[in-house]
Amino acid sequence: MAKKFYITTTLPYVNADPHIGFAMEIIRADTVARYHRLLGEEVIFNTGTDEHGLKVFRKAAQEKKSPQEYCDKHVTKYQGLKNLLNLSVTHFTRTTDQFHIEAAQEFWRRCQKNGDIYKAKYQIKYCVGCELEKTESELANGRCPIHPDKTIEIIDEENYFFRFSKYQKQLLALYEERPDFVIPKFRLGEIKKFIQAGPKDFSISRLKSKMPWGVPVPDDPEQVMYVWFDALINYISALGWPKDLDNFKGFWPGVQIAGKDNLRQQSAMWQAMLISAGLPTSKQIYIEGFINTGGQKMSKSLGNVIDPFELVEKYGTDAVRYYLLREIPAYDDGDFSIQRFEELYNADLANGLGNTVSRVAKLVENSGLEFNGTRLPKKVLRNAQKNALADFRFDLILNNIWVTDLHPIEIHVDQHQPWLIKDKDKLLLVLQEEVDSLREVALKISPFLPETAEKIRKQFAGPKIKSEKPLFPRV
Ligand SMILES: [Zn+2]
Repeated sequence: MAKKFYITTTLPYVNADPHIGFAMEIIRADTVARYHRLLGEEVIFNTGTDEHGLKVFRKAAQEKKSPQEYCDKHVTKYQGLKNLLNLSVTHFTRTTDQFHIEAAQEFWRRCQKNGDIYKAKYQIKYCVGCELEKTESELANGRCPIHPDKTIEIIDEENYFFRFSKYQKQLLALYEERPDFVIPKFRLGEIKKFIQAGPKDFSISRLKSKMPWGVPVPDDPEQVMYVWFDALINYISALGWPKDLDNFKGFWPGVQIAGKDNLRQQSAMWQAMLISAGLPTSKQIYIEGFINTGGQKMSKSLGNVIDPFELVEKYGTDAVRYYLLREIPAYDDGDFSIQRFEELYNADLANGLGNTVSRVAKLVENSGLEFNGTRLPKKVLRNAQKNALADFRFDLILNNIWVTDLHPIEIHVDQHQPWLIKDKDKLLLVLQEEVDSLREVALKISPFLPETAEKIRKQFAGPKIKSEKPLFPRV
C-alpha cells in the first residue's frame, strides 16, 4: 500500500478577494503535495474557505443577502484558484458544509466531556478584521496594527471558554520532544515563549442574539461557536472525521502551512484542542512570512495590492509560481515588485531555462539523430530534494537546480561545440548527455512549475526531438 501524506492550507475568510500572500501559501502547499505524489505517495491536499463570524455576517447584511447566499457567491473566487494557479488540490472544505458543522459539534462534545469547556463572563476588546481578541499591548494608538482602518469593539457577554491554561505542560512537552514540530526553528522559539508565559483560556462561543452566524453550540440554543474554534476543525473534518475513521487514521496527523500571524492558533490553540478531544497533534507546521511591495505593507488604502489574477493573466501561471517560490524567502518576509518580477522572469525563465531548452532542441533537431527515452529513477529526485523540501526551502532548491543542473548544460554545450562534430556516434554521445540532463531538470522542477515541466518532458521524450516556440517569451 502506498504511503499516505496529508497537507492543508489555512482557510481564508470568504469575504475578501484572494491576495498574493494566500496565493503563495497555496502554491507552496501544492509544491509539497506534488513532490510527495512524485515519490509514489497517496496525497490529500486540502484548502477551502472560512465562512462564519462577525465579518461575513456584516458584509452579507451590507450586500442585502443572507449570510449563506453571500458565501455561495464569494466562494467561487477561491474555487477559481485551482485552475488559475494549476493546483493539485483534492479537497475543498467550506466551513458551512454540513459534514464540517457536524464534525465541529462532535469535537465540542468531546472537549466538553473532558471538562475543558465552561461558561463565564466575557469582556474584551475585539478586532473584527482579525476576528480576534486584542490586549492593550497588541494595539497601536488604540487600533489593531494589521487593521488600522477598523475600530476596536468591546464584547461584553456571557459565553463559553476553552480551558487552554490546562495544556501548558503538555504543549511545552510537545515542543521539547519534537524540535521540528514548527518550521522554521525561530517560530518554535516564539511559540514556546508564548506558552511559557502562561496560556489564558479563550472564549469559544458568541451570544446568538447578537451574532447568529456560526455553528450552533450543542445543547445550548442561545450560543453559536466562535469562528476560529469551528474553522480549525476543518483540518480533520476534511478527512472525514468523525465518521470515516479509517480515512482519518490513514492521513492524520498532517502537515499544516500558515502565515506568521497564525502561529498561535495553529501551533498552540489547535494543538491543545486536539489533545482535549483525545486526538493526535499535527505532524508539522510550516510558518511563512508576509509579502510586502516596494518595502511597504500591501493595503487597500495605499492602493498597492497585487492581484494574483491580473498577474497570471499577464505573465502566466508558472512565472507567478516561480517568483513566489524562488524570490520570496521561505522563512521570512519577502518583497514583490513588478520590476523585480520582470527582471527575474527574463533572467531565469526566458534566458536561463527557456534559452537552454531552445538551444539544445535546435542542436538535436539539426543533427537529425534519434534519442531513446530513458526512464529517470525516482532516486534522482529523492536524493536531490529530500532534505531541502523537508525543511520547506523552496527558494534554495530552485536556486540549486538553476546553478547545479541547468547552468552546466550550457557549459557542456559550449565546451563540446556539437555543431563542429562530424562523427555521428560521437555527436550522439554528446547530445544524449544534454538531452538526459534536460529530462532530469524537467523532473526536478515538476513540483514547482508543473506545466513547464510537462512541456519539456514531452518535447524531449524522443526518439525524434524538435524545436518548439519559446517556453517564456521575453517581456
Ligand atoms: Zn486586526
